Amino acid sequence: MARTIPAPPLALTHDLSDATGSGANGLRRDPLVLPEDEGGHVRMVADRDLLDPLAGNTPSFSAETSPEGTSTTSGKASVPLFRRVRERLPAPPDHILAEIERKVHAGERLSAVDGMALFAAPDLLWLGRLARHAQRRISGDTVFFNINRHLNLTNVCKAKCAFCSFRRDDGEAGAYTMTVAEAVATARTTVAALPITELHIVNGLHPDLPFDYYVDMLRALSDALPNVHLKAFTAVEIWWFARITGKSYAEVLHELRDAGLGSMPGGGAEIFAPAVRRRICGYKSTAEDWLAVHRTAHGLGIRTNSTMLYGHIETAADRIDHLLRLRELQDETNGFQVFIPLRFHNANNRMSDLPMATPLETARIFAISRLMLDNIPHLKAYWIMLGLDTAQMLLEFGVDDLDGTVVEERIYHMAGAHTPHEMGRNELLRVIRDGGREPVQRDTTYNVMRRFSRDDDPSDDLPTTMTVQAGAVGALR
Ligand code: SF4
Repeated sequence: MARTIPAPPLALTHDLSDATGSGANGLRRDPLVLPEDEGGHVRMVADRDLLDPLAGNTPSFSAETSPEGTSTTSGKASVPLFRRVRERLPAPPDHILAEIERKVHAGERLSAVDGMALFAAPDLLWLGRLARHAQRRISGDTVFFNINRHLNLTNVCKAKCAFCSFRRDDGEAGAYTMTVAEAVATARTTVAALPITELHIVNGLHPDLPFDYYVDMLRALSDALPNVHLKAFTAVEIWWFARITGKSYAEVLHELRDAGLGSMPGGGAEIFAPAVRRRICGYKSTAEDWLAVHRTAHGLGIRTNSTMLYGHIETAADRIDHLLRLRELQDETNGFQVFIPLRFHNANNRMSDLPMATPLETARIFAISRLMLDNIPHLKAYWIMLGLDTAQMLLEFGVDDLDGTVVEERIYHMAGAHTPHEMGRNELLRVIRDGGREPVQRDTTYNVMRRFSRDDDPSDDLPTTMTVQAGAVGALR
C-alpha cells in the first residue's frame, strides 16, 4: 500500500539547496518523499503500525542539516551546491532489535522497517556480528579475490554527473579515447606481466563514438586474449547504446555478447530514489532503465553485478529503497552475483563541499546491505576506493570479496583516492588471513580457481605495490 508518511517540519528533509535557491533564505527545502510515493515501486514503510515501536505513535526520524558543507568564498558565505542531511534516527527499542536478531538467525527476510531500525541501532559491533553471521551462512570463512585490470576506453562523456571527477568534454585537457589497437596493446601488455583473468571495462557516454566501436573493441580484445573474461559496460552504457542505435536492450546485448561480452559490471546504479538521482546524475538512465537493462541481461543468461553510491545527499530511507529494489529484481531473475557499495569521493567534482562517509558509517552500510540483500550471494569491498585498512575491517561486517589486483584504476583516483593502483597478491593474502579467513582466487563468475592454505605463499607473486597519487594518473598513459 503506497502512502505518504507525514514529515514534521525538519524531519526527514532533504536539504536540496542549489545555487539559485528559491526559499526565503536562498535555500530550497523539499520534503523527503519516501520512494513509495513516487511510482509506488517499493512497499516501504507500508504498515505504519510497524513503525510505531520505533518512534512512538508518530514516525519522527528527525534530521538536521549538517553544518559541514558550508563553504565560504573570500570570507563571504556562499551557498554550497550540495549539503548532506545529518539524520538523527531514534534508537529502536531493544525488543525490535531482538526480533531482527531472531529473524537473521532463523534465516527470515528483513523488512524495510527492520532496515531503517538497523540504521539507528546503537551497537555497531552487534550489527557487524549479525552481518558476519549472515555472510558465514553463504560463504563460510572464504574471502574471494580475483586478478583483473580496469580498462576505461574513454572519459569523454555527454552526462555531467555531479559526483564525477573522471569525465571530460571532447577536446578538453585530459580527455582521451583509446583506439581499438591501443586498448588491445594495453591489455596485451598487462597480460604479459600479470596473470589477469578479467578486464573490467567501463567508460563515459561518448557523444560521437558509434556502437560499432564498442562491438569491434570487444571482438578485438576477445580475439587477442581469449582466456580473459570481458566484464564490460554498465547498464547506463547499454542504455546509451540503445539510445544511439534505436535498438532494444536485448538487441544491443546480443551483439555485444556475440562479440565477447562475458558479464556486466554493476556501475551506474548510483541511488535509485528519483529526487536524489535527478540532483546528482539527472542525465543518465533512470532507475527503471537501469533495472530493465539488468533484467534483460539476466534473461539472456548474462550475469551482472550491482552497486549503490552512498555517502552524499541520500538518506537512510533512500538506501533502503535502493536495496529493496535490487532484492526485488533478484527475486525475479537471480542474475546478480554481488553487491558493491561504492563510497562517494569528494575531490575534483561539483560535490566537493560534502564530507565523505567515515569508516564506521561505511561499516554500517555494508552490514545492512548484507542483511537486507538475502538473495545476492556476495558482498564486495572495493579496496582501491575504501583503503586497505577499511576494506579489511569490513570482513567483520559481511564482506566476502575483496576486489582484486586492479591495474591503473582511474575513476576513483581522479576523485581523490590515494590508495595504490595495484597490490601484490601475497599482500592481499596477508590481509585476508589476518582476519582469520581463507583466501580464494576466483574467476569473474565466482568459480574457485585456487584456494590458498595458511602456508601457501606463492613464489610467483604479482608485482609489488605501485603507489600513484591522484593527479599523476594522467602520466601513466
Ligand atoms: S559517472 Fe559516468 S555517466 Fe556520469 S559523468 Fe561520469 S563518466 Fe559520465
